[in-house]
Amino acid sequence: MQKGWMHKADRKDKLYVASLSGGKDSTAMVLRLIEEERPLDLILFCDTGLEFPQMYEHVKKLEQSVPVPVVWLKEEKGFEFYFLHYKPKRKNPDLADKEGFSWAGPRNRWCTAVLKTRVIEQYLSVLKKEYEIVQYIGIAADEPKRIREHCYPLVEWGMTEKDCLEYCYRRGFAWGGLYELFRRVSCWCCPLQPLKELRVLRRHFPELWEQLLDWESKTWRNFRSDYSAGELEVRFLFEEECLREGKRITGKEFSHALKRRLDRHG
Ligand code: SF4
Repeated sequence: MQKGWMHKADRKDKLYVASLSGGKDSTAMVLRLIEEERPLDLILFCDTGLEFPQMYEHVKKLEQSVPVPVVWLKEEKGFEFYFLHYKPKRKNPDLADKEGFSWAGPRNRWCTAVLKTRVIEQYLSVLKKEYEIVQYIGIAADEPKRIREHCYPLVEWGMTEKDCLEYCYRRGFAWGGLYELFRRVSCWCCPLQPLKELRVLRRHFPELWEQLLDWESKTWRNFRSDYSAGELEVRFLFEEECLREGKRITGKEFSHALKRRLDRHG
């Protein structure tokens, strides 16, 4: 812990903490909190280990340009351990011999809980012994999820997701162009992202895509309920082939042809 803020915080009962995902919303929140000289003692960045390289660069750049300490948190064992090797107690007997949590799904975002929420809560639980924590959360005014006891400055300022991105761009934060490629930026290997974004991932980040295929080959659950990562690879290659031939990659005809292609690879 850094002395500067501890000393400052020591004189008050409250400790003002901003959660930084590194994305446009929480970045805009942090920048504006500082610009408006609102109380802010600490910025928490929880690293899942699955951020885009440009995201790490962004957080380092932000860290160097703000007068508030950024604390980097990280779960000790990391994604791969829980993904491939962890042996949870399972209710479903069919999964009894399966190792690792494998890919997250819409109803099982284990990685959010294990790699983010739990790590932040553990860190804050220590601070809570000494301080009353005031937590700023960077949820934009046009996003619905809120928890009563936290502060939502973006909602107070009426800043939408679009406003946040523009705000950051105007201050020189551009994430190496990530937001020109993706609408939302989170873990690069998240199975819950839209197909459109996975297509972009494969095209613009081939090494990360290879890593994704490699993880898929070592785990027991398909990447998504509709496609395994291998099937996505077949689909995206097929799409490229169709586009080269001037064919559409939507509609019934495409779906039937894709099914035949996938069956051939099945
Ligand atoms: S963004 Fe996706 S992969 Fe990352 S922690 Fe959340 S559910 Fe898991």
